[in-house]
Amino acid sequence: MFWWRTALLLFAFALLALILQPLLGTVGSLWLMVLAMGGLLVFHLSNLNRLGKWLNDPSPDTVPESSGAWEAAYRRLYKMVRAQGKSQRMLTAALDRFVAAGEAMPEGVVVLDTNDRIEWCNPRSMAHLGLDRAKDIGQHIAYLVRVPAFQRYLTAQDYSQPVVLRDIHGGDVVLSVQLVPFDSTRKLLLTRDITQLERVQTVHRDFVANVSHELRTPLTVVGGFLETLLDMPDMDAQTRQSQLTMMFEQTSRMQRLVEDLLTLSRLENGAEGRDARVDVPALARLLVTEAEGLSKGRHTFRLELGSDAALRGNYDELHSAFGNLVSNAVRYTPDQGEIRILWKVEDGVASFAVKDTGIGIEAQHIPRLTERFYRVDRGRSRATGGTGLGLAIVKHIAQRHQARLEISSEMGKGSCFAIRFPANRLLSTEDAGLGV
Ligand code: ADP
Repeated sequence: MFWWRTALLLFAFALLALILQPLLGTVGSLWLMVLAMGGLLVFHLSNLNRLGKWLNDPSPDTVPESSGAWEAAYRRLYKMVRAQGKSQRMLTAALDRFVAAGEAMPEGVVVLDTNDRIEWCNPRSMAHLGLDRAKDIGQHIAYLVRVPAFQRYLTAQDYSQPVVLRDIHGGDVVLSVQLVPFDSTRKLLLTRDITQLERVQTVHRDFVANVSHELRTPLTVVGGFLETLLDMPDMDAQTRQSQLTMMFEQTSRMQRLVEDLLTLSRLENGAEGRDARVDVPALARLLVTEAEGLSKGRHTFRLELGSDAALRGNYDELHSAFGNLVSNAVRYTPDQGEIRILWKVEDGVASFAVKDTGIGIEAQHIPRLTERFYRVDRGRSRATGGTGLGLAIVKHIAQRHQARLEISSEMGKGSCFAIRFPANRLLSTEDAGLGV
């Protein structure tokens, strides 16, 4: 209540003029009233002037000071402006936090207005959809994302599921895009890069198809023979023997495949095996003996031990990896060929290598050899009992030992498969404490 002070003052002047009327006369009293009201008017006008000036740049620090009715008004004004400033600062900080969170989101976010025009977008959505914040704010999203699947999704107005977009800018990126209506008129456009997920799903699908295919052939063969045996109970002993032998071969093939699959899945899912001291020279000697059994005198073997160092690793895994390389050399080297098994340490890098004088591999196949079921010559692989999983297993085992598999080859001359271990995997003879 600011008015009562002024009213009280006016009333006091009027009373004073009335009391002094016998002394000043009527005209004098009226003049006194006029002077008092004029003074009051000047006081109010000057305060209005200060208020007007302050309103041009209102800040709690510059609220004018005065007396009387204006003092109370200015005090209230000061409190209001301060409280408003505080809540505005809090709102701005909250908004800044939301914007920063949106900017940092690993998924793309675009805010669309009622007419599907861009109001705001974060950097990830710009990268996904090729948007430019400087130019594209206010643009209709359909003009900027010109993929037919997206246009259909936008107009169909059923946003319960995301839509998958490919070839957005001619690249091989695959995006999952979903519109989420909010605020009754606006929409959020969320984008997620699912390229990697799609790749994994494709690999998984291919893998299942490959395994089924690998098992179907031997199963068909075994089924066919069993049917013949059932239909012809009087089959002569020699034919029966040869069919049983072939069935045995096919079941062995399926067994090898299942064993390799189990090894791979153990390597992929299993916990890291306990490390122990692996005496590589002794393992290499064992491998030569095993390979001689496989080769049955068709090849010559040379063991070249340039170091007596041992490795810190898993014996069974290393036996399996090195054994796979040696048996591949036997299987892909024609009779009379030579197979060298090498173990050496150079510049702190230990290498286990198998060199053969076999058929060799064309350069274009080399990067893909460690893919599951990848074979250069399917017929030869099968004929020699291959599953197509050997090098995939070798690669996994190498990775578990922080080692690298390196392949070099020359067509018709031979191949070299080397596993290179980092220095921290090497154990000298003094480290004999780590028992196997
Ligand atoms: P597989 O069971 O078919 O031998 P691997 O994964 O062990 O499967 O090898 C994949 C492919 O790599 C083989 O099918 C073969 O074509 C090629 N390969 C592997 N080792 C050799 C080698 N020493 N000489 C020539 N080709 C090889």
